[in-house]
Amino acid sequence: MLIGLDLDNTLIGYDEAFRTVAAESGLVAAGFAGGKAAIRAAIRARPDGEADWQRLQGQVYGPRIDLARPLPGSIDFILAARAAGHALAIISHKTRTGHSDTSGTDLRLAALGWLDRHGYFSRLGFAPVDIHFEDDRAAKLARIRALAPDLFVDDLAEVLDDPGFPAATRAVLLDDWAAVAERVLG
Ligand SMILES: [Mg+2]
Repeated sequence: MLIGLDLDNTLIGYDEAFRTVAAESGLVAAGFAGGKAAIRAAIRARPDGEADWQRLQGQVYGPRIDLARPLPGSIDFILAARAAGHALAIISHKTRTGHSDTSGTDLRLAALGWLDRHGYFSRLGFAPVDIHFEDDRAAKLARIRALAPDLFVDDLAEVLDDPGFPAATRAVLLDDWAAVAERVLG
């Protein structure tokens, strides 16, 4: 099989990075327990919260991406897929820039650096040509249609339910990687 994978919040988990940088910036209390969605809600409820949220995202997806972690079970899924002989590709609509306060960081290069540090180009068997960055969701869907993977895993139902999602590709909504491995790799 060819297995297509989304990147942000599918392979890269940002909850810890958001917590750390938001607390450092005084946007949430130290020890705030929520993940990205709770942090976004808390910051947006503040005066000028939307601007602070945009700046925080710029930091977390850019210069502070080192704080992001592989989603639990994602590395094991990739290793199991490789062991079974499947091919893998990553398709993301991560823009090169797009949040305020990225400190000039190229968000795609930041993500590639993260993938490299987590072994994607060494022990996980990816080549740079297996990583596809597109500018928006429509372009991402066009890339999925062009590559025509047997299945595609994404954390967003909006991608999988889009009319542009190819009918011949099995749509897999990420809930938990161990459960996905069970369903698609047996
Ligand atoms: Mg995603």
